[in-house]
Amino acid sequence: MADEPPKEPGKKLADILREGAADVPRRRVRRKKPEDTVAMHQLAAKLVAARERKRQLEEEQITAAADWLEAKWGFGRKCPYCASPTWSVGPPSVFRLSDGAESIPLFPVSCTNCGQTVLVDAQQAGIPGYDEGGER
Ligand SMILES: [Zn+2]
Repeated sequence: MADEPPKEPGKKLADILREGAADVPRRRVRRKKPEDTVAMHQLAAKLVAARERKRQLEEEQITAAADWLEAKWGFGRKCPYCASPTWSVGPPSVFRLSDGAESIPLFPVSCTNCGQTVLVDAQQAGIPGYDEGGER
């Protein structure tokens, strides 16, 4: 057969196969254009900035929630179930009522000892992002 590699004395089969592999057409891979790379970097920078803004807002919300709780509950309020005075406060989440007509932003206040959790109305507490004119 004409396609068969010529037999060369002293050459190993692996060498012949390796040389033949160089002639096999390679699958073409589309290289990224420089503008694609720039767009991806810009998108990544926007995502990082958005994540940082969200983190900062959540930090402000938690601080506002803790201040509000101290003003309304007083400092050192004890858990009604285990009497622990230590609570953790989380950022608000919007809860949709089962009829779907109304949604309520609530932030969690959890006892760090027993896990008892209370949900507080973020709008009533004036939490940034949910205060007057904020989202609801
Ligand atoms: Zn407790």
